[in-house]
Amino acid sequence: MNVLVVNAGSSSLKYQLFDTSNDTVVAKGLCERIGLDGAITHKQLLAGKEYAAKVPMPTHTDAMKYVVEALLSAEHGCLKSMDEIHAVGHRIVHGGPWFSQSVLLTKEVFDTLDQRCRDLAPLHTGAHLQGIQGCLDVMPNTPQVLVFDTAFHQTMPEKAYMYGIPYQMYKDYAIRRYGAHGTSHRYVAGEMIKLLGGKAEGTKIITCHLGNGSSISAVKDGKVIDTSMGFTPLAGVIMGTRCGDMDPAIVPFIMNKEGFTPDQMNEFMNKKCGFLGISEVSSDCRDLEAAIADGNSQAKLAMDVLGYQIKKYIGSYTAAMGGLDAIVFTAGIGENTASLRAMALDDMEYFGIDYDKELNSKTFGRHGVTKLSTDKSRVQIYMIPTNEELMIARDTEALVNAK
Ligand code: ADP
Repeated sequence: MNVLVVNAGSSSLKYQLFDTSNDTVVAKGLCERIGLDGAITHKQLLAGKEYAAKVPMPTHTDAMKYVVEALLSAEHGCLKSMDEIHAVGHRIVHGGPWFSQSVLLTKEVFDTLDQRCRDLAPLHTGAHLQGIQGCLDVMPNTPQVLVFDTAFHQTMPEKAYMYGIPYQMYKDYAIRRYGAHGTSHRYVAGEMIKLLGGKAEGTKIITCHLGNGSSISAVKDGKVIDTSMGFTPLAGVIMGTRCGDMDPAIVPFIMNKEGFTPDQMNEFMNKKCGFLGISEVSSDCRDLEAAIADGNSQAKLAMDVLGYQIKKYIGSYTAAMGGLDAIVFTAGIGENTASLRAMALDDMEYFGIDYDKELNSKTFGRHGVTKLSTDKSRVQIYMIPTNEELMIARDTEALVNAK
């Protein structure tokens, strides 16, 4: 089946065309600056043909038209007719408590997303709805599937997702822990379960998705029992520009000192903190490593904070699961930044953790799945490159076939 995987942002639309018969990406591309001056970059991977153009894209519907045109183009396309796009799978950031798994798009699903989920992630959900509408306009008869970043975390028990706020507020505003990157956690946990023998029952895995945004999950028996991100993706460990967990009293304190409005404070916590805030160098791990090599102590501090926080999550989630079989590192930093994996794993012998330091220092995402633990380690440690788009394509195929 050919599945078009779509990730619609407020002014962008990323896509990948999957052939699910062999899990290959046939073509991929990006529409940028939707609503501004518009541009599309398209790459047909098998034949290596590339195409870039600046074209007006006032709406996501216009962007979808260009995507379909690029896929059908005689010069740089790979399909003969639109009917060869058998289904569309959308990445959706927030499904709230209403979606605990991927679903086929219906009018009811569209309305729930619009009327209930929008409140929890206004910018993202608005963009997703436009992406979905764009597909409905351009290919009205093609089935669409929605795959939620929050869905995999919906198995968390109440004690893990409840905050210490009045219960009525939880009921009125749906304030609770939701988590994020669920599709990535589900993918790498699934791959790890295969490596542990294939049976989810009885397995205790910690999945560390460390990228520009980072989250860590405790996956017991194949189900999430806790995760580090919270009501929003601002919670948990420090990130490229997000602050992660901190004493909530800091929020009004900074607002008073700096004269920030709630929106300005939100923007500050999302864009000016984390690696960037502490290091005053960059939000990017590679820049921090370069600065550390030059002796920059604030860049070192930023990395130390994240390494220490990951270690604490490993400890607390081992306690929460009553043991630990495996740790998985994934995403930009988890796959490529050996120093951070090392900071999280060093001095953890008490936990039965022993890893090959030499191998770790030479392991990058491009090497594919790599076992980092030694044979004497009680806990298996792996670097597994994530593949959220493949998960979206697989869910889409499964739901369309079931229909
Ligand atoms: P996003 O959350 O935006 O998907 P990524 O998963 O791409 O982010 O992670 C980006 C982070 O990974 C950056 O801090 C970057 O420095 C770090 N990183 C380290 N090495 C690499 C690499 N070889 N390729 C990509 N990202 C890398």
